[in-house]
Amino acid sequence: MNPLPERPLSFGRRLRFLLFPACCPLCGNVIPMQRLFCETCEEAISDKIFEDTYVLEKDNTVHAAALWKYDGQVRQTLLAYKFSGQIDFREAFGVALASLVKGVSTDSFDLVVSVPSDKKRVRQLGFDHAGELARQAAQRLSLPYRPVMIRTRKAVFQHTLTREDRMRNLKNVFAVNEDLTGMRVLLVDDIITTGASVCACAEALYRAGAAEVLAVAVAKTMREEFQ
Ligand SMILES: [Zn+2]
Repeated sequence: MNPLPERPLSFGRRLRFLLFPACCPLCGNVIPMQRLFCETCEEAISDKIFEDTYVLEKDNTVHAAALWKYDGQVRQTLLAYKFSGQIDFREAFGVALASLVKGVSTDSFDLVVSVPSDKKRVRQLGFDHAGELARQAAQRLSLPYRPVMIRTRKAVFQHTLTREDRMRNLKNVFAVNEDLTGMRVLLVDDIITTGASVCACAEALYRAGAAEVLAVAVAKTMREEFQ
């Protein structure tokens, strides 16, 4: 693998990393501020934990892949990214997602989108966590990112639901506000649990005319019922 790009460092960022040292998202070890992963973990970033193809309505399919198990340090890092304002991890995740895409597909894509977050959640967090990952991955793949997906209604809290319940719960929750006729679309999320969100989003993308959908995520939960 080619060496990974380094992190761009503004004066403010240098100062911040002096106060709060940069950490490797996979093992938690302190790393030089311009690096995204430690040397050991960098060797393994394109080893994926999960790959599967989900069959949707009308014989459409969505191929899905995730990089790491949602466990241990990866779980800590994702929680810190999402809830503790540690958004510097987005660059490392974006680079890793771009490498995952190249590893699972030789197709070229036209557009990168993200699983839309609940508006209230985005307001609370101050940013769209999946959108930021999609934007970073798109940048590394030299593809456009557009937040074309919306939630049409609120889904029931679903961490404890089974896959079938989740599918029912998410039926028509997602919509696309752009014509995607003939487009190959890359769908990005932070975590794949049962795959129900990915499937519901892919259904909406196909309804908008997409020709193909590939879904990638940073992590996959290994126990279906929990996230
Ligand atoms: Zn590491």
